[in-house]
Amino acid sequence: MIKEKEITLKEIVSHSKEYGFIFPSSEIYDGLQAVYDYGPYGIALKRNLQKLWWDSMIKINQNIVGLDSAILMNPKIWKASGHIDSFHDFMVDNKDSKKRYRVDTLIEAFAEKIIGEGNKDKGHKIIDSMNKLLEQNDLDGLKDLLNKENITCEISKTSNWTNVRAFNLMFETKLGSTEETSESIYLRPETAQGIFVNFLNVQKSAKMQIPFGIAQIGKAFRNEIVARQFIFRMREFEQMEMQFFITPGTEKDWFEHWKDTRIKWHKAIGIQEDRLAIHQHEQLAHYADNAVDIEYKFPFGFRELEGIHSRTDFDLKSHEELSKKKQKFFDTKLNKSYIPYVIETSIGCDRLFLTILSESLTKQNIDDKERTLLKITPELSPIKAAILPLIKKDGLPEMAQKIYDDFKFDFETVLDTNQSIGKRYTKQDLIGTPFCITIDHQSLEDDTITIRYRDSMEQKRIKIDETKGIINENILMKNILMKL
Ligand code: ATP
Repeated sequence: MIKEKEITLKEIVSHSKEYGFIFPSSEIYDGLQAVYDYGPYGIALKRNLQKLWWDSMIKINQNIVGLDSAILMNPKIWKASGHIDSFHDFMVDNKDSKKRYRVDTLIEAFAEKIIGEGNKDKGHKIIDSMNKLLEQNDLDGLKDLLNKENITCEISKTSNWTNVRAFNLMFETKLGSTEETSESIYLRPETAQGIFVNFLNVQKSAKMQIPFGIAQIGKAFRNEIVARQFIFRMREFEQMEMQFFITPGTEKDWFEHWKDTRIKWHKAIGIQEDRLAIHQHEQLAHYADNAVDIEYKFPFGFRELEGIHSRTDFDLKSHEELSKKKQKFFDTKLNKSYIPYVIETSIGCDRLFLTILSESLTKQNIDDKERTLLKITPELSPIKAAILPLIKKDGLPEMAQKIYDDFKFDFETVLDTNQSIGKRYTKQDLIGTPFCITIDHQSLEDDTITIRYRDSMEQKRIKIDETKGIINENILMKNILMKL
């Protein structure tokens, strides 16, 4: 009898560290808050996620092309985009516990508790008041709301709050060698602006006609006030963003199109439907006329995994105004020039990584014995096959080496000769390898091997010649792309 138990975030964190997926950054110096490094299996999984996303955008859509813009950009870009003036969170400290909070999350958690206790009207009223105050940048009003509702700190249990302060989330640095000549620049807080400022370069050079998209994968940096929950909220992270340029007036249809396409994508990579949710934004960012989040049920609850935003012509128009460079597109079908509207899909690669780990880390109890495995979709697994000679003599390692040398050109393969076969299976289960290939004395006689399937632990004896084909059938990203 197999029983599976719910996985906690703590278990994901320790599994990630122990089995080479994610390490805290600068660990020997006690780390750096909310910054992480990817280990050998982590980077392999991350690259697979990126490749799948990239191919889903670029390889299978004739009208989407790629870009890799620089992290450092002219600071005027952040003026035009609104990041210098309004990319901030509001923070507040509890004077007794010294704990710092983002004021919106503090108030939201309080309101949700009230709603959970059955007082829906009051809870929603608090959220509405908060949204109005946030919109008006009314810091005193936010503090009054904390006091009026007697919202307390979870540690000190007091409502002894400091004033609410605005905190810009961009990391600032200096460009130039001397104090006098150096200029303030920023590490990009999103990859999207690199796409907007290259809109015409890409359109003209790749001869794109509207509607078309530009996709980019790259690092983004945010000096988050409260960065917790492992790689869910990091200060240095990676985004996978696609801006889709469209004719004004078609934004509603394209918004629905991309929302549906992205949900389909999440299901195609194996995320269970009941762990996905759509959250419609009531309060919209300054650039958007519609927005939804695709949420995933992380071990700490439903949270944003990906954002789909209808960005209007806000960004291109602002860049046109500030740069004084025309950002219009001449539409030959409509015989007119206009600044396109934009639908954006934006997903954090690291949040997707955490989603995959949350979805696949499995602890089973089989007849009172614990078994831990990563049930990662084979197309995404860091290692696809492990070649395991039963013993280290009698020509078995040599035969294993021959198979390894053949397989390695097709997919990620490891050859492992250490420890007992049971321990080697366990090791591969822990890093999510879908297929183990065991070579024994019979293999030498009749050219057969035993293939072991990770999830079912089923073992079958098959011909060596057929093995590569069986593995290839199961690991090709094409399997996922064809579902889209
Ligand atoms: P949140 O509300 O969680 O702060 P956001 O709405 O600010 O997120 P966006 O600006 O829409 O996020 O960024 C797009 C995507 O980038 C998010 O859906 C998320 O997957 C990812 N992302 C944003 N901030 C972080 C972060 N600090 N660490 C990891 N991923 C992030």
